[in-house]
Amino acid sequence: METKRLRIAMQKSGRLSQDSQALLKSCGLKINLREDRLIAHVENMPIDILRVRDDDIPGLVMDGVVDLGIVGENVLEETMLERQALGLSVEYKTLRRLDYGDCRLSLAIPQEQVWSGPESLAGARIATTYPNLLKRFLAEQGVKFKPVMLTGSVEVAPRAGLADAICDLVSSGATLEANGLKEVQVIYRSKATLIQAAQELPADKQALVDKLMPRLQGMLQARE
Ligand code: ATP
Ligand code: ZN
Repeated sequence: METKRLRIAMQKSGRLSQDSQALLKSCGLKINLREDRLIAHVENMPIDILRVRDDDIPGLVMDGVVDLGIVGENVLEETMLERQALGLSVEYKTLRRLDYGDCRLSLAIPQEQVWSGPESLAGARIATTYPNLLKRFLAEQGVKFKPVMLTGSVEVAPRAGLADAICDLVSSGATLEANGLKEVQVIYRSKATLIQAAQELPADKQALVDKLMPRLQGMLQARE
């Protein structure tokens, strides 16, 4: 189904929601967000905001179901690798890397263990929500491992005896420390990013994007 309104997907609730909403508002969008709504209409422009799980955003953009999306590069890259393996389209355009959502995907091991580089993990069970990014990194290092897929509570996996190490998002490191783990290797650095579907937009939608982008650039430059 085609719609005349520009569709922007963003995280419904989580670490990127507040900053993403604030950014769109600062570009002049009047958004009336009701907590329970999947779609929020922008009152003063022909734009709809789709509020979804962050994991769904890259696929929605790559399938051309929404026009724009705001998502963490970590999720974008992981989804690309996953879709590539499935033979699905992985095309999109980056409009602008954003200035929030900083984090890194890192390997962490129990504090008492000795680290002598990625080869320390040969044959280890590694819990993660990002199996594809982890596989890519360890394949480059020539290290074989056993992925343990968890979508939550990754940091408790070693203590629970489910894994020998983890590969998880870190910002301060406090969560790792609280779970008796130490960060030993960064494998991916991420920020939030604004992406657009690869296929050409109808002229009126593209004109709207072209009108909004300078405002966004201006906002981000002023915050630098
Ligand atoms: P959803 O319910 O939408 O699936 P989620 O639990 O997967 O949410 P959040 O924890 O809200 O996701 O994180 C969203 C994004 O925020 C991450 O993918 C990452 O890009 C970014 N981020 C920034 N700092 C951190 C951090 N310390 N831990 C996790 N994610 C972070
Ligand atoms: Zn998620």
